[in-house]
Amino acid sequence: MEQIFADRDAFTKLIAKQSGGFEIYPASMTVVDKLGVAMARKGVEKILVTAGQKAGETDAFDGEMIVTENLTLKLCPLSIANSKVLQGKLDFLQARPLGVKKSFGAGDRLGIATPGHVQAIRNGKMRPIFCQQSIREMTRTGRTPDEVMADACWGILQSGYRDGFGADADHLKNPEDIDRCFVSGFTFFTVDPGDYVDSSADSADAKMLAAKYEVLPWETLECSADQCRTTYADKSYKLDSPLGGFKLMISGEDLLRAAVKYGRAVAHVKMMYEHLQAKAGDKAVEFEVSVDETETPTSAAEHYYVASELRRLGVKWVSLAPRFVGDFEKGVDYIGDLEQFRSEFDKHVGLARHFGPYKISLHSGSDKFSIYPIAAELAGELVHLKTAGTSYLEALRAIAKVDPGLFREILAFAKERYPEDRATYHVSADVDKVARPGDLTDAQLPGVLDQFDTREACHVTFGSVLRNKKADGSFIFRERFFQTLRENEQVYYDILEKHIGKHIGPFS
Ligand SMILES: [Zn+2]
Repeated sequence: MEQIFADRDAFTKLIAKQSGGFEIYPASMTVVDKLGVAMARKGVEKILVTAGQKAGETDAFDGEMIVTENLTLKLCPLSIANSKVLQGKLDFLQARPLGVKKSFGAGDRLGIATPGHVQAIRNGKMRPIFCQQSIREMTRTGRTPDEVMADACWGILQSGYRDGFGADADHLKNPEDIDRCFVSGFTFFTVDPGDYVDSSADSADAKMLAAKYEVLPWETLECSADQCRTTYADKSYKLDSPLGGFKLMISGEDLLRAAVKYGRAVAHVKMMYEHLQAKAGDKAVEFEVSVDETETPTSAAEHYYVASELRRLGVKWVSLAPRFVGDFEKGVDYIGDLEQFRSEFDKHVGLARHFGPYKISLHSGSDKFSIYPIAAELAGELVHLKTAGTSYLEALRAIAKVDPGLFREILAFAKERYPEDRATYHVSADVDKVARPGDLTDAQLPGVLDQFDTREACHVTFGSVLRNKKADGSFIFRERFFQTLRENEQVYYDILEKHIGKHIGPFS
């Protein structure tokens, strides 16, 4: 039934005529069984076009039916219902597990970045997660898991990408989060037990440690305080690693600190894992454990304890995100000692080989250009790089290029909002150093996004920019923000290709 699109130009012309001017994205044209589908655009409006030689082929979609001489057409809105029908028909629109292969998380808070992410990923060798959003991000942007999934699907269809992608439900804190994302088709579940990590263990005295150790949830951990001590305390291990191996000694005190710091987190991860397994049944899903958003770095001994305990408890995971040494602030380069990072990263990879293999996941991975060569060299396939905010920042760069006036307003607003919006983020920008729009020429505007303080301030204020309203109830920026990007979508895609390319390049 390829003949639906046998003459692509004729089809494109037919759609333009029948729809009042919608232009087909050529790469999106797909035929499955007796159904043809394509994405089309007119101005800032997009639709899904479905076509069949009999009326029945397009029945499952909602839309406006047009019967022509040879084909029945339906012009369909990009609704969640239509995206779900389409996913049911096109395998390449269904998220899938990516396995233990190097991968890239392309978080898209706006829901319009995927074609740009596709342009970048095609130039590299990392498997993509085009659909990735934390519950916190969804709350801030007012999106649901279904919407996040649908937006990624439309972007994938538009760009003609057929090579498979993952969908990461990021930083899940409780079983309800898992349930919400599972029904939307997510396949990668990042569990964040950070609320159960006791960072005070790093500095607690012996008496306090002993007391806290005794009252860990031993029943859930399926062992006793004594058994745990016997297993880990006063042991030394020789572990292989990319840089030639290392010796790990775990003293009695090390064990107490590791268990007090992470024991409750291990119990929580086990509960979340079992919940996911019960929910998923036969469906293949992947599981990530992330403790990146905690106060103090994860030592090799602590990584050993966590991985060993999770394995003993039957948990299987594809990646683990330690809290690394140094600072992974949002949207800016790594702050810290690169040699120390290299040495610690080597141990984490050694442990990931020993207990897995699984990937070491780099969260807040946006713009950490100085560490990518280290991670790429040491991890090989065992790395996952997670980004999100950087694609929002590059949207601002696109706006700065095509509508300087709007960007000036957003910049002034970000400077004003930053002191409040920074609260839940790991950032250190000084509000006084954030650029003042009045001091800049139009030509200087895009580049101001490379200035540290301005970049961080713009990064953490995305929720306010997208959602805040004026006194009369209308959005301050939302409509203009999206209108500008939609009118100039290829500008945004090209900026993303270049910027995300700088992340992926070192791993290719
Ligand atoms: Zn994270």
